[in-house]
Amino acid sequence: MRAIVAHAAKDLRVEEWPTPEIGDTQALVRIGAGGICGSDLHYYNHGGFGIVRLREPMVLGHEIAGVVAAVGAKASRIAVGDRVAVNPSLPCNACKFCLEGRQNHCLDMRFYGSAMRFPHVQGAFRELLVCEESQAQVVADGVSLGEAAMAEPLAVCLHAARRAGPLLGKSVLITGSGPIGALCVIAARRAGAAEIVVTDVADGALSFAREVGADATFNVAAQPDALAPFSADKGAFDVMFEASGAEAALRGGLDVVRPGGVIVQLGLGDEKKLPVNAIVAKEIELRGTFRFHEEFGLAVTLIGKGLVDVKPLISATLPFANPTEAFELAMDRNRSMKVQLAF
Ligand code: ZN
Repeated sequence: MRAIVAHAAKDLRVEEWPTPEIGDTQALVRIGAGGICGSDLHYYNHGGFGIVRLREPMVLGHEIAGVVAAVGAKASRIAVGDRVAVNPSLPCNACKFCLEGRQNHCLDMRFYGSAMRFPHVQGAFRELLVCEESQAQVVADGVSLGEAAMAEPLAVCLHAARRAGPLLGKSVLITGSGPIGALCVIAARRAGAAEIVVTDVADGALSFAREVGADATFNVAAQPDALAPFSADKGAFDVMFEASGAEAALRGGLDVVRPGGVIVQLGLGDEKKLPVNAIVAKEIELRGTFRFHEEFGLAVTLIGKGLVDVKPLISATLPFANPTEAFELAMDRNRSMKVQLAF
């Protein structure tokens, strides 16, 4: 069984790993597709992000789908041969946050391919993965494993949309048109947004946003004042999703979000300076959003029913045996949106 292992920054290796044994409540999944996420790229480029650092070799990957190869004696919901999207988060379901239904804040979370805890939770870019049966979600016939692997980042955006509150008829700004920003277009449209404007600093990234339904896009590197018309009369947007992590994007948003508007911050990054007076005077609500819980099942359902189409965002699928090429391609924001690995 081979896996993609990060040893340090710019040091990815395809290595033989022992085939894991399954327990009674578990399933063995033969992985078919795995999407490269921004966090995988952080491990690849920098060996981590913030205080989260690789301290031992770690298998990357958490956006995955595959085919069930074996099930434990007490697993009854899925069967060998089922095609499944695998939820990478495994909350303890016993801590106070889990018991409140806020599993994304679990105090004992195990999330594939994360160096937040030590020993690290090994990831899912591997030929064979063991998961709890509860993590595996059967996907509809006709949905490719690549589409199914998009359920995870879509779930992030569905959770962000839920954090924003009702979007029916709302005017929405999305800053940052990477996979998360583009999937926020899909989530906001599905939730009833009337107008969706997207900004980025790369034309290629914006073309994907238009393809999935953005009404207007602006390259704010080429046109730094592009959003100025939206600042008239204290701001035009009801809701903003900040998916770039750039300070300038968040600051700019405070000029164009109307009084009482909501800013949902998805992008991570360095600490930022904020003009607090603008937040106070316009009564803006600045909200964080982190991962997802029940939205994973919703993402699989929406994809399965054809209510959202994530296919336009899968910009390339490369063999996993040469991960460095795929990771480098994923970093090229003018050519790539979601790069997936085929296993
Ligand atoms: Zn918990």
